Amino acid sequence: MTTPVYENFINGHFLKNQSGDTFAVKNPATDEVIYYVEVADEFIQNAAIESAKQGFAAWSAMTPIERSRILLKAVSILRERNDELAKVEVLDTGKPWQEAECVDVETGADVIEYFAGLAPAQVGQQQMVGNDFYYTRKEPLGICAGIGAWNYPLQIACWKSGPALAAGNAVIFKPSEETPLGAIKLAEIFIEAGVPAGVFNVVQGAGEVGQWLTANPDIEKVSFTGEVGTGKKVMASAAGSLKDVTMELGGKSPLLVFDDADVSQAVSAAMLGNFYTQGEVCTNCTRIYVHKNVYQQFIDELKTRTEQNIIAGDPMDPEVNLGALISKKHQELVLSYIDKGISEGATLLTGGKALSPASAPNGYFVEPTIFVDCKDDMTIVKEEIFGPVMSVLVFDDEDDVIRRANDTHLGLAAGVFTKDIQRAHRVIHQLQAGICWINSYGNSPAEMPVGGYKQSGIGRENGIETLDHYTQTKSIYVGMSNIESPF
Ligand code: NAD
Repeated sequence: MTTPVYENFINGHFLKNQSGDTFAVKNPATDEVIYYVEVADEFIQNAAIESAKQGFAAWSAMTPIERSRILLKAVSILRERNDELAKVEVLDTGKPWQEAECVDVETGADVIEYFAGLAPAQVGQQQMVGNDFYYTRKEPLGICAGIGAWNYPLQIACWKSGPALAAGNAVIFKPSEETPLGAIKLAEIFIEAGVPAGVFNVVQGAGEVGQWLTANPDIEKVSFTGEVGTGKKVMASAAGSLKDVTMELGGKSPLLVFDDADVSQAVSAAMLGNFYTQGEVCTNCTRIYVHKNVYQQFIDELKTRTEQNIIAGDPMDPEVNLGALISKKHQELVLSYIDKGISEGATLLTGGKALSPASAPNGYFVEPTIFVDCKDDMTIVKEEIFGPVMSVLVFDDEDDVIRRANDTHLGLAAGVFTKDIQRAHRVIHQLQAGICWINSYGNSPAEMPVGGYKQSGIGRENGIETLDHYTQTKSIYVGMSNIESPF
């Protein structure tokens, strides 16, 4: 069987590039090339802009109810094809089937459904000013670019296209070069649902294609998900044409476990927030601060459950709950952080090595790894690792742990475990993070706005306010009497 080659998706269909350049995509669990993708060359880039201009003209002229109806059709196709799409995500990312099957497609569909519902509810204002009055219209921005990371490829494409399309914009989406197929599947579904050709286009390639999107003057907005360093480059480039930006970037989020917490629940949260999607989740609580009175109990239970309950292997096996990291390069990076943790004096509680499970011997696996007795200045405590590596630290004073938790330039997420309701809110209100959980960790429903403080992001995704990030307000003043003029 020949290996498939996917073209860029422009103006409602696949379009061949002229350069003939392609790149290979590997299954992280097998190290095998599963398909090739054509790079968006200059011909494709120009075609994408022309296509999006036409798409925008057609889509923005439709009523919000019409757009909503079409998007809801796409939602039902996404749900019908859940298993087929979940499999695409497992093969591209290496994540376990047991996650993709119930999370990736589902949470993507939820967000499109949520914004489809809100589309007709967007209203302007009107106000009298003397006998005159003004009113406002919420108008779409035009062509919006989406640039995605590789950890939740389809979900990210849905989270960006849902509000953008609901508000009447056209989208040019560039998935990560590691995981390009999910966005293509979404593009096909939009067409099938009745979204006009040109409204959602997919261009393929690495940083240079992203760079073209961020610099192109016909694009009004860039919504980016990725690393902090890349986000800074995107924003600098977008400044050249004063584009609006949304930045969903990295984190090094703290979880605070107080001595009145339900320790088993806190262990569950710590494991979910470090080992789900083999640790490749932006909001992960990779710094766990545990009160000294429950520290030993916490790490004893954490070690036992990590060693007994985690099953690595072929991600398509429904029993497997720890998949492969995205690439060999990323596996090596994560292992190099583990070496740093050891050399800087952290105590390795469990894990620490590459894994070669019998059912997926060539995959890029890393053992679930826990460091205890960590210090605030260790590299593993300060830098985002984006793999299954947890750092546990001890504390004994509330104010001091808040100060330590906030001592970072990142501020994506934070969590608190305590049974004291006043402490829970008091502490959470002082933590410098955009996404917070009390006695919970990681849930991100469509209704809840998400985004980072400090260098973890700008703007929000999900929740009602996100529609404001995909619209602009036009104010219209209406004169009801003769103009008074000195001329
Ligand atoms: P990355 O920054 O390497 O790449 C992200 C995207 O940017 C890719 O599509 C890439 O091709 C593109 N890109 C690279 N250079 C570019 C440039 N100069 N201009 C424009 N685009 C460019 O990130 P990644 O490794 O794909 O993803 C992991 C990172 O994403 C982690 O830091 C993680 O925390 C973050 N992330 C954040 C969220 C969130 O919602 N806050 C969600 C998922 C992932």
